Amino acid sequence: MIHLRSFRVRICIIILAVGILPGILLQGAIVQTYESRAVERRAATVQNQLLIISQHLLSNNYFSTYRLEDPGFQNSRQVINAELEMISNLYEGRVMIIGRGCKIIKDTYGISEGKTIISEEVIKCFRGENITHYDSQNGYIEMTTPVVSTGNDGKSTVVGVMLTSVSDTSIRDTMDLMNRNALTIELLIILAIVAMAVGLSGVLTRPFKKVSTEIAKVRDGTSDKAISVPDYVETVHIVNAFNELLSRMNTLNESRQEFVANVSHELKTPMTSLKVLADSLLSQDNVPAELYREFMEDMVSEIDRENRIITDLLALVKMDKKAQGLNITALSINDLAELTLKRLRPIARKKDVEVVLESMRPVVAEVDEVKMTLVMTNLMENAIKYNKEHGWVKVVLDADHQYFTLEVSDSGIGIPEEDLPHIYERFYRADKSHSREMGGTGLGLAITRSAVLQLHGSISVTSILGEGSSFKVKIPLNYIAESGV
Ligand code: ADP
Repeated sequence: MIHLRSFRVRICIIILAVGILPGILLQGAIVQTYESRAVERRAATVQNQLLIISQHLLSNNYFSTYRLEDPGFQNSRQVINAELEMISNLYEGRVMIIGRGCKIIKDTYGISEGKTIISEEVIKCFRGENITHYDSQNGYIEMTTPVVSTGNDGKSTVVGVMLTSVSDTSIRDTMDLMNRNALTIELLIILAIVAMAVGLSGVLTRPFKKVSTEIAKVRDGTSDKAISVPDYVETVHIVNAFNELLSRMNTLNESRQEFVANVSHELKTPMTSLKVLADSLLSQDNVPAELYREFMEDMVSEIDRENRIITDLLALVKMDKKAQGLNITALSINDLAELTLKRLRPIARKKDVEVVLESMRPVVAEVDEVKMTLVMTNLMENAIKYNKEHGWVKVVLDADHQYFTLEVSDSGIGIPEEDLPHIYERFYRADKSHSREMGGTGLGLAITRSAVLQLHGSISVTSILGEGSSFKVKIPLNYIAESGV
């Protein structure tokens, strides 16, 4: 279907317009020029003849009436009349000789002789003005020619006027012929240009079709490879953008699959332990009560672990639903940090880890309390969990006029350099045995990073293996909601 918004149709229209319009304009201009030139030349030819006749008129005293009876005068008058007839026949026109008092002396049509003509052109001509006028509507050229007599004293007087109209039939005929010829040529050109426009637009738009075909292949699942249409710079841009999108989708897909695999694995581990514990109890007869109790305690701790994983997963899923459920309020970050530390102190005490909070200044910021607490709890808990006996954890809170920073440093085991880029990934554990032992799910830092990003902040880490780590969070004091989110 022809659609005006189609690129191909537009190219067609442009080619047609560029190809056909100049031809039509040129034809119009040529015919017009021919017309005015032809009219001019015809008028000039007729004027020349009329000038000759005007000489004859003067030399034969055509305008004097007193010699009407003179046979010689009659004779010469007849000769002139014949000349006039000849001109009017030759040019398919009419000649009128007008004498003084605007009286028509001779009319080659023979219908107005003796009458008086009052016309602007005639009057102007008596004053010496020559007028040529082309009436293309009615198809004749009208002109006036003064008959000028020069007296003995050298003074010129207009003694009469010739009012002539000649037909433009021959000019019209030529113009019609020109137009017909031009039309035939134009039609041929139009046909050629239409064929060219259809062909050329097809060729020009082919790369874009190729892009859609290639994209369709990916959409239909036939291929998930990057596509390539290097024909135009434009197609390269489109294709590059698409390939980027494709690779992001592929990465996303892979990470989703990996995530599902990880989740299943993580959830299965406590289940397997549970089954092993239960099976071993069932397979034995007369199990002592203490053993039952011991196994049951292990089973409860496995169930707790399963619960923790599920709680963390739910927190993470909630976090993924962007900006949803954010409850932004102005809070004292100092109070929040203190409260979090207070909650974690018992765990720290168990490991004999000293925890200090250093508040450089009072900080009030617009944050979501739940998310901010999550960030602080995870960072501080990790600092305690991955610490050494009798170690320390230092929390420093500071702010400038735009951001506040929370730095959690510890004297712990540190993170190997090669693990640093991955610690925010879901289920990633730098020190697997340690993490599991500590009841870690590998989701804590993923949740932390998500929360920080939701508050439009950033998180960074420096760590030296065996010496300790330092996590730094930087969050704007004022939360500015993103438009369109
Ligand atoms: P987990 O539940 O295992 O603690 P996290 O996502 O909180 O999971 O942390 C990911 C990994 O990063 C941990 O398994 C641990 O190896 C490492 N890690 C995090 N914080 C620290 C820290 N303060 N010191 C040393 N290692 C850390």
